[in-house]
Amino acid sequence: MPENVIIIGSGPAGWTAAIYAARANLNPLVFEGNPEDDKNRQNGTIPLGQLALTTEVENFPSWPAGNTREYLKSALKPDDPDFPYWVSAGKEQPTHGINGPELVALMRQQAKNFGTRVESKDVVKVDFKRRPFTLTTHDGKSVQTHTVIIATGARANYLGLPSEDKFKNKGVSACAVCDGALPRFRDQPIVVVGGGDTAVEEAGYLTKYGSKIHLLVRRDVLRASKIMSDRAFANPKIEIRWNTEVDEVLGEEKKGVTAVRVKNNKTGTKEELPASGLFLAIGHTPNVGFLDGQIELTETGYIKWTTLARTYTSVEGVFAAGDVADDYYRQAVSAAGTGCMAALDAERYLGHHGLI
Ligand code: NAP
Repeated sequence: MPENVIIIGSGPAGWTAAIYAARANLNPLVFEGNPEDDKNRQNGTIPLGQLALTTEVENFPSWPAGNTREYLKSALKPDDPDFPYWVSAGKEQPTHGINGPELVALMRQQAKNFGTRVESKDVVKVDFKRRPFTLTTHDGKSVQTHTVIIATGARANYLGLPSEDKFKNKGVSACAVCDGALPRFRDQPIVVVGGGDTAVEEAGYLTKYGSKIHLLVRRDVLRASKIMSDRAFANPKIEIRWNTEVDEVLGEEKKGVTAVRVKNNKTGTKEELPASGLFLAIGHTPNVGFLDGQIELTETGYIKWTTLARTYTSVEGVFAAGDVADDYYRQAVSAAGTGCMAALDAERYLGHHGLI
């Protein structure tokens, strides 16, 4: 029997779709991604999405600052790999309120509480030409389904310099939360690239470890929101270098990154900044490769919503939610909102076609 609905992806959009689909008795199956795949780690596409790569989340409604310990202890299962270590270890709460990995772990748990089935697999191939649709996972297994909700999100971009590639995992990273605590960054200068909310957030986070953070901004303004920008301006450990780009990542085979040569794009002046690391925070690319051209994309490569205020895609019965279809808002709460919409759209599609 084909599945009613399969959700691909495990960020706020995927779990919200699962919560709604499960509560509608659709018995959803989520392919949350393969945590074991090294490529997923390198590309920043490990399960639980971009929210799991961030620190404190201050703007998700219903999570004001507060002591979350007792709540997390009762809402999450202590034997779950996503259970926050500090809760059972009795350590000090690391943030004032909820943090990204905790928030997405709560969403996952909420979806499971209503009977969502979860498989830790990557979907590597789809066949949307025949109905029911067929999805193939990385272990070569196939499954059929009447509807699909694509919620695979977007992954962090890199600059594309060969020297950057050479030092990936040796000082070059696109995730401060994943890698910032590594010994190589302790009390060393670090370079962060980007002018958006992610860049200033990563720079702020890295001040916990590095001796100084050089924030390279290619224009003479930040794109980041005012509240985040003001924090960066006020942080004495962050030095913003305007109109500045990376020219080359410098290092040694064994030691990894030792410096970053930067270039002022107004004057052409180059300078070598000693640094043990380079963190990229220069936007994202939607995760659509596995679709192999079977879904229409926008000019910028995101899945195209074909109908205003619906999560419909170019294939009837396939819906898209979250950052994979949103190059504009890209917030956890807007992703969750479109996840809800996609589940309702799938439910109505199934009902309309007499499939439930
Ligand atoms: P973003 O807003 O698209 O910013 C990307 C930044 O990288 C821009 O400053 C851009 O410069 C710069 N950039 C792009 N390509 C570059 C290159 N090749 N070299 C140098 N710089 C380059 O991406 P984001 O910061 O990841 O944020 C994505 C979304 O998530 C946003 O909507 C943001 O509000 C949201 N977010 C929110 C929070 C929060 O509220 N706490 C935290 C993180 C992210 P230009 O400005 O010159 O284009």
